[in-house]
Amino acid sequence: MNLVADLHTHTVASGHAYSTINENARAAAARGLEMIGFTDHGPAIRGGPDPYHFGSLRVLPRYLHGVRILRGIEANIMAADGTLDLSEEYLRRLDIVLAGFHPGCYDGGNVVANTDALIAAMENPYVDIIVHPGNPQYPVDIPVVVREAVRLGICLEINNASFSLSRKGSKDNCQHFARICADQGAILAINSDAHFMGYVGEFREAVAVVKEAGVVPEQVLNTSTERVLDYLRTRGKQVQEVTPQPPI
Ligand SMILES: [Zn+2]
Ligand SMILES: [Zn+2]
Repeated sequence: MNLVADLHTHTVASGHAYSTINENARAAAARGLEMIGFTDHGPAIRGGPDPYHFGSLRVLPRYLHGVRILRGIEANIMAADGTLDLSEEYLRRLDIVLAGFHPGCYDGGNVVANTDALIAAMENPYVDIIVHPGNPQYPVDIPVVVREAVRLGICLEINNASFSLSRKGSKDNCQHFARICADQGAILAINSDAHFMGYVGEFREAVAVVKEAGVVPEQVLNTSTERVLDYLRTRGKQVQEVTPQPPI
C-alpha cells in the first residue's frame, strides 16, 4: 500500500512534541511523501497552543520542501455531547480537522457514553477524521462507530503510534476496527501521529494491521493526494489545487 500523505503530525506548538513545521516538512520530503497535515493538539491539552495558533496558520505556504501542507488541528472531544475545544470561528478556517479523546480533556465514560461522544463529534460538520478510536482507555462500541462513520461518510484513523509509543493495548481494538471497516467499506486514514520528525511517514505497523484485515487501498484516504483533497472538498473545505512553490 503506497501512502503519499501523513495527515496527523505534531510540532513544538503542541507543547509535548519536539520538531518544527520546517523539520517535519523536510522529513516528509525525505520520506517521499507528497502531503503533510500539521495537526497540533487543541488548546485544552496540557501545555497546548492558544486558539490564535490555529487562526494564524494561514501564514504557512501551501508547499514546503515540495510537500503540500494542510493546516489543521487535532481537536479534543471534551464531553459526551461531542463538544470540541476550538470554536467554529477557528475550525472553519482550517483545511483539516481531526478529533479524538485525550487524557485531561475527557475523562471517559462507559461504552455507551464514549460511543455517543464519538458519534456526536462525527456529526460536527467541521470534523474530517476521528483519530485513534481504538484507544482502550476510551472503549466504544466498535460496530456502531463504524456503522455511523459509514452513514456520515466520515473517515476513521488507524494510528501507527498506537502500536508502539502511545495508547498501550490498542492493537486488538484497531484490528477489530480494521476488520469491520474492510467489511463495511468505511474510509480509513493511516497516520503516524508523529511527535518528532523521525516518525513522520512511519506507517508500517498500521499498514500491516489494515492489510491483514482485508482493507483495500481504495478505502484508504492517504493513498493519493487527489483522494485527500476530494474528500476534504466533500466535507466543505476550501482546499484548492495549487502549483507547487519553490522550496524555501
Ligand atoms: Zn491524539
Ligand atoms: Zn496526535
